[in-house]
Amino acid sequence: DAPCRASGRLARNGVLLADNAAEIVALLVAEQGKPTWQAEFEVAAAVQWLEATASLQIPVEVVEDTPAHRVETRHVPLGVVGGISPWNFPVLLSVWKIGPALVAGNTLVLKPSPLTPLTVLRLGQLFAAVVPTGVLNVITGGDALGPLMTGHPGFDKISFTGSTRTGRAVMRSAAERLTRITLELGGNDAAIVFPDVDVKAVAQQLFWSAFTNSGQICVATKRAYVHDAIYDAFLAELREIAAQVPMAPGKEPGAMLGPVQNAAQFARISALVEEARLSGLGVIEAGSAPDGPGYFVPVTLVDNPPDDSRIVQEEQFGPVLPVMRFTGEDEVIDRANACEYGLAGTVWTNDEARALRVAARLETGTVWINEALALSPFAVFGGHKQSGMGRENGLSGLLEYTNSQTVTIRRAAEAG
Ligand code: NAD
Repeated sequence: DAPCRASGRLARNGVLLADNAAEIVALLVAEQGKPTWQAEFEVAAAVQWLEATASLQIPVEVVEDTPAHRVETRHVPLGVVGGISPWNFPVLLSVWKIGPALVAGNTLVLKPSPLTPLTVLRLGQLFAAVVPTGVLNVITGGDALGPLMTGHPGFDKISFTGSTRTGRAVMRSAAERLTRITLELGGNDAAIVFPDVDVKAVAQQLFWSAFTNSGQICVATKRAYVHDAIYDAFLAELREIAAQVPMAPGKEPGAMLGPVQNAAQFARISALVEEARLSGLGVIEAGSAPDGPGYFVPVTLVDNPPDDSRIVQEEQFGPVLPVMRFTGEDEVIDRANACEYGLAGTVWTNDEARALRVAARLETGTVWINEALALSPFAVFGGHKQSGMGRENGLSGLLEYTNSQTVTIRRAAEAG
């Protein structure tokens, strides 16, 4: 009965969020910097996730059921969960924790990034209308708060979304008490474009896969491998799109891309681009940034840099994309996999057999074929390698907020 009540409350939270979407969108644009259309998309996705998670059922698995013996496995709540979320999608990625934590019957202490606390505080306020006091708690503070949470004995689980570096610190801290953890970490997703595609159409899709939210998406395309036969035409197309897409402060009508969210990230991306330029790589400033204040980085393409350059090896998390030539299928798979991350990747081709063959060999938790950023609340999501451990979304993601409990009953033989 308790999970049913929690699901009902969660579904009502979805309605509350939808009813207050305009206010949350405005706050999100103001604090995160993203353009209004992208903030609307994020809030709509959060509503969809709340509804979808509320509809999931936690199963009871009956392993054996005879007159003499019954074995069943249930899933019981963990207790108190700590959620730690990043600044790129503060609303959606917080909802990814609120939903399953509550449906599974836990209480949650949620800590947004110190760089984007306001939308999540407001969510907490809104949801307080339907969630009992103490069940959903939003706390904010500076850099010291995360480690205080992960070291606190009161937490039964920490669900963390953020960088791989911080993820390692969370894991070290959790090791002390064997606190359960889910780690959703960084990515350096490769896109592989075969020569049989419609160059114009795929360049358009790949552009938005790389540059939506100004590249600040864990599953953004962060490296593009384009077949030699179409490379020049493809790069020219990307340049043309970049020249046409307006970058402006998020609240400006018509803004399609916004600034980078914070000073540290701006400095990091600027330094990566500067280093590429100083090493003589083909840095193309393809877009333009508005005059005036703001952490604007124009859309930048790097023309065929070597695989061992920093711009290819590291997660840039900004509007800068290295584009590389390839010729062979085996070669490009090896190059895509030669990376410490394994979050997601995309394959673009009209040859479905080839796409599936390549997908099977990519070392990533998600592979999208002829589409990108196509996440679903019902599909398991999570990283291979250094992109994380544990899963979010779908039933597997929900069960991460539970402990399994197997109960066996030996029954007395019936009097005969
Ligand atoms: P971050 O690791 O700097 O911070 C994430 C959160 O952790 C913040 O709330 C921060 O305050 C907190 N934190 C910082 N130090 C901590 C510590 N020692 N212990 C506990 N918590 C601590 O990440 P970010 O810069 O906010 O986000 C960008 C990164 O997140 C990128 O690498 C991106 O790929 C990744 N990300 C991953 C996913 C995913 O689902 N895999 C989704 C979004 C973002």
